[in-house]
Amino acid sequence: MTIAENVARVRARMEAAAIRAGRDPAKVRLVAVSKTVDPERIGQAIEAGVDMLGENYVQEAQKKIEAMERKVNWHFIGHLQSNKAKAAARLFDWVHSVDSLKLAEELSRAAILQNKVLPVLIQVNLGQEQTKSGAKGEEVFRLLERMASLPGISVRGLMTMPPFFENPEDSRPYFRALRMLGEEISRRQVPGAHLEELSMGMSNDFEIAIEEGATLVRVGTAIFGPRPSK
Ligand SMILES: *Cc1c(COP(=O)(O)O)cnc(C)c1O
Repeated sequence: MTIAENVARVRARMEAAAIRAGRDPAKVRLVAVSKTVDPERIGQAIEAGVDMLGENYVQEAQKKIEAMERKVNWHFIGHLQSNKAKAAARLFDWVHSVDSLKLAEELSRAAILQNKVLPVLIQVNLGQEQTKSGAKGEEVFRLLERMASLPGISVRGLMTMPPFFENPEDSRPYFRALRMLGEEISRRQVPGAHLEELSMGMSNDFEIAIEEGATLVRVGTAIFGPRPSK
């Protein structure tokens, strides 16, 4: 199976899931997760029409981003340390994983220096024990209110990463909870916040995520094949 074939398959599955849920397939976009993938194979995905790439590590991504002509959008999806915020704001077009005010403030400052407005998502921890990253409960509202007034960043939505389940159906309650949280936030009408994005769903469960309202799915393995184990 070539990367181009994988991309076509994933897109077909995305579209089918959207239609199943009565959603407009154009409202669901693919972020191809290229961590550990070399520039040549990333190039094959771009040839196949991929225009958004996701990376987890600033240093690893920097080499690729600088090697590649910037005709694609780079999304930072991993855990971001505050001391990497400056580089991240310079290199990336989106950050999916903001989970503290400190990080938001660093990104805000860095984006202003870059003369850009960086679209960001708030990473939400929906009570799962396994993952430590992500804001929880009322913290999400507090964080959103503070972030919405920061210059240099634009809060566009929410992101979550449930624990891994063999059965993708087990992810559904997490995806549904994120969508409901987004709806609750919209009802509260936080000034400056335009939450239209839900970043959720990976290779194993992106169809379920789309059924529950995902607008950005982050798919690595189903496009590039298995990653080398560390
Ligand atoms: C690696 C990663 C993905 C992609 O995972 P696959 O299972 O390979 O599709 C998505 N989101 C995040 C945050 C990741 O770290």
